[in-house]
Amino acid sequence: MKSGINYSNTPEFIVMHYSQSGDRAWYSIEEINNDHRRKGFYPYITPNGRPLFIGYHYLVNRLGCVSTLRPENIFGQHCASMNRKSIGICVEGLVKVLDQNTKKPTLELVYRLMKKYQIPVNRVVGHGEIDNKDCPNFRRGMSGFRETLVNFINKIDPDSKLAN
Ligand SMILES: [Zn+2]
Repeated sequence: MKSGINYSNTPEFIVMHYSQSGDRAWYSIEEINNDHRRKGFYPYITPNGRPLFIGYHYLVNRLGCVSTLRPENIFGQHCASMNRKSIGICVEGLVKVLDQNTKKPTLELVYRLMKKYQIPVNRVVGHGEIDNKDCPNFRRGMSGFRETLVNFINKIDPDSKLAN
């Protein structure tokens, strides 16, 4: 990493995104990386010296596999006003909704991060709630997503104060 650049991130929010894979079957990490490089995103240099342009911290792909892209304490590039105070999670999907594959891993990932950083559910936001973007466009919007998240937390951890 170059010196003189502050890479730090202090997570207070979780920002949800989806990858717009359109009619493509997959939107691979390589493709996202190329797209974000073309957008001019500042790379995170991985420990083995490779630049990673993807601005998200995590990607949940269409099969429900979770990839770690940036360390949580490194700033993201996914939501301009939030990049140094949030974790960015991208959910891959053709249909813009949490489906059978992505639902459980996404909820588990979000709740694990909520607990780790003591982030309450009202600080789990959609990109489109911060910036004027159609992202993510889960079927019932982010309020529906937070409702699903609260139900999930209440089921596995009824005493959690983060669901309020
Ligand atoms: Zn987004």
